[in-house]
Amino acid sequence: MKTGFIGLGNMGAPMAANLARAGHEVHGFDTADVNVEGVTLVADAAAAVRGMEAVITMLPDGRVLESVYAEIVAHGDPGALLLDCSTVDIESARAAHRLAGVAGLLTIDAPVSGGIGGARAGTLTFMVGGSAAAFERATPLLDVMGKRIVHCGEGGSGQAAKICNNMLLGISMIGTCEAFALGERLGLDPARLFEVLSTSSGSCWSVNTYCPVPGVGPQSPADNGYEPGFAAELMLKDLGLSQTAARQVEAHTPMGEKALALYRKFINEGGAGKDFSAMLPALLAQGGDSSDD
Ligand code: NAD
Repeated sequence: MKTGFIGLGNMGAPMAANLARAGHEVHGFDTADVNVEGVTLVADAAAAVRGMEAVITMLPDGRVLESVYAEIVAHGDPGALLLDCSTVDIESARAAHRLAGVAGLLTIDAPVSGGIGGARAGTLTFMVGGSAAAFERATPLLDVMGKRIVHCGEGGSGQAAKICNNMLLGISMIGTCEAFALGERLGLDPARLFEVLSTSSGSCWSVNTYCPVPGVGPQSPADNGYEPGFAAELMLKDLGLSQTAARQVEAHTPMGEKALALYRKFINEGGAGKDFSAMLPALLAQGGDSSDD
């Protein structure tokens, strides 16, 4: 497929490279100076849209997404498909769908889970919102970049599913770190505690796959000095999106609110640039009084 790709950063670059490797003709644009194997770089966003059957965006946030869509929709061929894979607020996702719809283009919001490793390996999970027709057209491209693709519902539903997942992930990672911090003070060997938690009712992705204790469980950022991985700032962004959405629809999410506050504190107190699992050493460095958190 002739495919435009706008936003060739940590995630977008390997996703675009995988499309090119699979035989798609990829025309890419990024405001930064980038070079992606197999991708023909073009001068501006409009040039990544003209004559393309599909255009993928992988951008930092909803503000950038809306400004890029405002710029590109007029250049899309009639019936072309726009796929936004960025993580953005639901309002921006819906605004992007509206802009594209008015211009006669098909759209899906298709945020991802799986991080940079998943983007490189082509094993991302896509959570998709949009019409059945747009979903069907997008599937051959999503199949190249991902392993699991779930059509969650109408426009915006992909973003809705994504923030529900990441709110749960933020909460579960903090819970996992607290369990290991408590275990340490109780004198438990973290390897034995891992054996118990990973096979008991406390098991979850944060324990089993992404254990925050160095040298325990499968390889994770904890084994690499807490280099991201999934940066704490990105978790803070996603928790901010989930709490904004919760306020808008009057959903009661007190643990999500607490997780947002704890990640904000963590980043302000030295966690910036670290993986989100570095919450564990931050907790271990603190005393026992949790009442101020
Ligand atoms: P990134 O900052 O590495 O990449 C974003 C790219 O967009 C940059 O290269 C930037 O130069 C480019 N850009 C910004 N404004 C632009 C514009 N107007 N036109 C063209 N290009 C522009 O970020 P990333 O880690 O690749 O994340 C991208 C999106 O994926 C974010 O929404 C993020 O929340 C989401 N996400 C990231 C991860 C992760 O682990 N990194 C995981 C899941 C989802």
